[in-house]
Formats: sequence, C-alpha cells, structure tokens
Amino acid sequence: MDCLFCKILAGEIPSSKVYENEWVYAFRDINPQAPVHVLVIPKEHIPCADGVTAENSAVVARIFEAIPEIAKQEGLTNGYRVITNCGEDGCQSVKHLHFHLLGGKKLSEQMA
Ligand code: AMP
Repeated sequence: MDCLFCKILAGEIPSSKVYENEWVYAFRDINPQAPVHVLVIPKEHIPCADGVTAENSAVVARIFEAIPEIAKQEGLTNGYRVITNCGEDGCQSVKHLHFHLLGGKKLSEQMA
C-alpha cells in the first residue's frame, strides 16, 4: 500500500520514535508546529477519522490511552492539544489516521 505512515511502521522510512505498543506508534513530526509535536497513529491502516467504525474503533481508545503517557514522557505538565485532520477541507496530507499532539508552549486560541 502506498501509504507514508505504513512505510514508517514497516521501517522502510526512518522516524523518530517516542512511543510504541501493540496497537499504537508515535513519532516526532518532521515539520514541528510547537516545541513538542508528536504524531500518534494506529498500526492498523485507517484512512482518517471518517474511516472509524464499530469494528476498528477500539484502536482509537488505545490511542487516547497512549496520549497521556506520551504527554507525561514529553513533560507536558501544563496541558496540550490533540488534533486530527480529515479529508480535503481538513487539510489532511497523509491519508493514514493520525493525531497531532502539540504542546510545550501556550498554544494559539485559534483552531481554524
Ligand atoms: P496532516 O496534514 O494532518 O495530514 O499531517 C501530516 C503530518 O505528517 C504533517 O504535520 C507533516 O509534517 C508530517 N510528516 C510528513 N512526513 C513525515 C515524516 N516522514 N516523518 C514525520 N512526520 C512527517
């Protein structure tokens, strides 16, 4: 499958890993938008939030279990933001479900 994040998961493209378990992988964004910018992805290929179903939604819970652990590991004691982009209007550039974990400074109040 021609998916950048599947290639990262397969080790075909290098990444800066910050966390991994059976279901979830997290690595540093190559173009950070904040002092801490980590991408948290399911190991299973799901194209975006629109592809979450009753059959695969358990992995989303796994991701949100991992996020506080990653935030703690990254020292985000004063809060953080989690964003997922979906589709054209969401400006999603990589078609593999991912959650941006942003923090390390006071973030903008603007979201769009
Ligand atoms: P989105 O625009 O929500 O699809 O986010 C995709 C993110 O992937 C962007 O923030 C990119 O900077 C990031 N990205 C693209 N290629 C890589 C890569 N090889 N390693 C790490 N992050 C990447």
